[in-house]
Amino acid sequence: MASAASNASCIFCKIIKGEIPSFKLIETSLSYSFLDIQPTAEAHVLVIPKHHGAKLHNIPDEYLADILPVVKKLTKVLKLDTNNTPDGEGYNVLQNNGRIAHQLVDHVHFHLIPKRNESTGLGVEWPAQETDFEALGKLHKQLQEELSKL
Ligand code: 5GP
Ligand code: ZN
Repeated sequence: MASAASNASCIFCKIIKGEIPSFKLIETSLSYSFLDIQPTAEAHVLVIPKHHGAKLHNIPDEYLADILPVVKKLTKVLKLDTNNTPDGEGYNVLQNNGRIAHQLVDHVHFHLIPKRNESTGLGVEWPAQETDFEALGKLHKQLQEELSKL
């Protein structure tokens, strides 16, 4: 396993270590979850890896693999797991990378945000473009070349 990186000036590393208080929910050997103190909806939760890294690509796979099962358990704790229809209450899982993508804390974190109504929770702008199959085909070819190098 990759050794856990920590950053002495990082607010979320301090929360993991208990140097700053938090409203802790689930903790595993690799992840830590707690209530967001400026929630966009009631019970807005953050799940973080116990490995300091600013962006998703900085985090070792084993930490990332621990996170979604924790998010899933939290949907149960938050009673978000009872509606199995597309309508009514839902939730968003959000992970921002970089200031332009609305990231403010430079330690990877996944938001679990209840979406109970239009006015609370996540609001999304989705600038969908016209479908252009030629451009998509070209892009796909380029990406397949990149994939073959992995
Ligand atoms: P970002 O915009 O980086 O994706 O989200 C950062 C989140 O961290 C925000 O929702 C903000 O409210 C939350 N946050 C920032 N500082 C603290 C803190 O000290 N404690 C907790 N619990 N949440 C924090
Ligand atoms: Zn950190």
